[in-house]
Amino acid sequence: MINSLAAASPLEIPEWIWQADYWRYLNEGNIHMVFAYTGPSHPALSGHTVLRIAKEMTLGSSELSSTSISSQRYPMISQTPEGAHFATNFIRQLFGQAYASVMRMVAVGPDFLQDLDLSSFLIRPHHRRHRRIQIHQPMVLLMDNYTSSVPSHIIHQSVRDELNVTVEIKPKWGALPSLEYLDDRHRHIKARVCRYCMHKEYKLHTKKLHHVSAYCPLDLYSGDVDRMRRALCALMDRPQNNFRVFKGGSLLVRFSLFF
Ligand SMILES: [Zn+2]
Repeated sequence: MINSLAAASPLEIPEWIWQADYWRYLNEGNIHMVFAYTGPSHPALSGHTVLRIAKEMTLGSSELSSTSISSQRYPMISQTPEGAHFATNFIRQLFGQAYASVMRMVAVGPDFLQDLDLSSFLIRPHHRRHRRIQIHQPMVLLMDNYTSSVPSHIIHQSVRDELNVTVEIKPKWGALPSLEYLDDRHRHIKARVCRYCMHKEYKLHTKKLHHVSAYCPLDLYSGDVDRMRRALCALMDRPQNNFRVFKGGSLLVRFSLFF
């Protein structure tokens, strides 16, 4: 099922799915909001589909200081037909077709986006509400919903619906820069402290965060079991925006190792 959209890709997406009642707010990050399809089944959707929709980018807001320059001026590369093509045809080759979803860019109208924006507003987290959906984006990203479907080659159908736990990790940049590109003034720090850890210390120093996670992507990618375990425990201890657990298609706000 993981590549259900690959099988369905020749099928036309029916127009009737573009009504806000058929989409449930699932989650959001700094740049995108995600909605899960809940309408009538259709072969082109396989019943397990999400839309990833870009939010407004307000130049000059303090939040953007932590966002890359490119995303302030241009749509995220993943949110373009070229980005979807890259993810589908190159990333899937790297990871293997069973482990990466097919993405499709689909055309949507402003009325549908406006309805989604209004219907989801009150259930969004307070600290996210200052940025709304971009009403005039012509296309959004359609992809598999891993919070409500577990690939059939990984687990048997009879226990799929009952188990149905999804873990989302945003691991961040997991490599140190090459010494030859480091300025002498920064080399003593940047050669040993990763970009993510420097950024979280900056946020702490500037009071954008009052507590930071002990998570370090270098631990997660280290291949050392103890360090990898430490990274995962740090994510669970203070998930921030890097770790989420869904059960039965819904985000768990509080969870333990045994859910
Ligand atoms: Zn680090």
